[in-house]
Amino acid sequence: MMDRYKIPRTKELEFGGPLGAMILIFLMPATVFYLLLTCRTEQASVLNFPPPLPPLSTLWSPHTFLLLLAWVGFQAALYMLPMGKVTEGIVLRDKSRLQYRINAFHAMGVTALVVGAGLAAGLRLSYIYDHFLQLAFSALLLAFGLSFLLYFKSLFAPETTLAPGGNSGESFLRTQVSPSSGNPIYDFFMGHELNPRIGSFDLKYFCELRPGLLGWALVNMAMLVKETELRGSPSLAMLLVNAFQLLYVVDALWNEEAILTTMDIVHDGFGFMLTFGDLAWVPFIYSLQAYFLVNHPQKLSLPMAAGILLLNGLGYCIFRSANSQKNTFRRNPNDPRVTGLKTIPTATGRRLLVSGWWGFVRHPNYLGDLIMALAWSLPCGLTHVLPYFYVFYFTVLLIHREARDEHQCLRKYGLAWQEYCQRVPYRIFPYLY
Ligand code: NDP
Repeated sequence: MMDRYKIPRTKELEFGGPLGAMILIFLMPATVFYLLLTCRTEQASVLNFPPPLPPLSTLWSPHTFLLLLAWVGFQAALYMLPMGKVTEGIVLRDKSRLQYRINAFHAMGVTALVVGAGLAAGLRLSYIYDHFLQLAFSALLLAFGLSFLLYFKSLFAPETTLAPGGNSGESFLRTQVSPSSGNPIYDFFMGHELNPRIGSFDLKYFCELRPGLLGWALVNMAMLVKETELRGSPSLAMLLVNAFQLLYVVDALWNEEAILTTMDIVHDGFGFMLTFGDLAWVPFIYSLQAYFLVNHPQKLSLPMAAGILLLNGLGYCIFRSANSQKNTFRRNPNDPRVTGLKTIPTATGRRLLVSGWWGFVRHPNYLGDLIMALAWSLPCGLTHVLPYFYVFYFTVLLIHREARDEHQCLRKYGLAWQEYCQRVPYRIFPYLY
């Protein structure tokens, strides 16, 4: 009976299959340390390779590891508090729907109060800057540890709960019943189980927004505090970077419910790719501009700052209104805010928007996100490539993500998707791509 709900085996392997997964498992942490170590040097030149490497023993500090655990534990406690509403996720393959507590915004409010009280009591937030490498190393260990536990847990999970994108092989335990050529490295990387939970605690949903995104905002603030300690006051460039990225974090937490329909929640399992991304990559790489500015102060004229402000505002407006338009339409196609838009019917019964933002390009939300990425780097000046890493990486990530999404949409909507592509020929950048 339950067999018809079994998740089909993942046949089309992404990220270059097991070999690609294995390379990425080493490359992603190596990139974090390469960038952070380069950022600490006086030249901050990406061409000085390798950057000076500290002894491995100096990266490990039980104190910073415990602090990191305390941070994640604090966020987990806030997640479990009965504040905020409870909502349902999308219908799963076995026709069930999981419940999710929407309280990330509340968690941010409580965190801000606690950090504010700590600062008033003399908390040295610049500790984060002073121990940045050790904290990044701790986050790396935590991500590896959690990924191993998740993979181990997935071996005992019912087959109906596996991830469509991370089910390439039989687990060791299941091979006892039906042998098959398995691919544990690929599944470890992509995530074997879709929504791993301990009771009602959803591990993926928790990690996606809270410890990493709030951690990113906290790291940025720590860089601002450090800069103030070093030079007496925060620079305009640092203020802009902090303000822009805080807006992005607040927006994501305010719109927490929207995450329930994203590829990360719906398709990808919870494995190394997401644990590392959430716990290490986001807080330590997305804060690179602020980290850079502590060591490499930049003078920003007011007209330049105003231009960057406008650019970020433009990117944010496109990003927010495109995402809101689609979310509103998907929630209720009869909502008066979207009833005037043109649509294409599909065989699934769902319709595709073909006017408004989604008639401009096929991923207007990515376009807005990329414009913001540029605005976050420009305050760091034009002398160094390093602070622009986020723009390069994010462009590659979103182009690849767009291709993955198109592939899924073509499978889901067939001819209707082809018609959409004809009517809206550009993917992300109008008249370019
Ligand atoms: P999207 O929000 O772009 O959703 C894609 C889905 O939207 C498709 O699978 C399809 O799903 C639906 N869709 C596509 N075209 C149409 C249309 N014309 N009409 C109606 N529905 C359509 O997915 P993401 O999860 O990739 O992105 C969400 C946001 O998160 C974006 O703003 C992105 O920039 C951001 N992001 C940020 C990252 C970061 O690290 N900062 C990383 C990744 C994403 P269906 O039809 O099933 O509803």
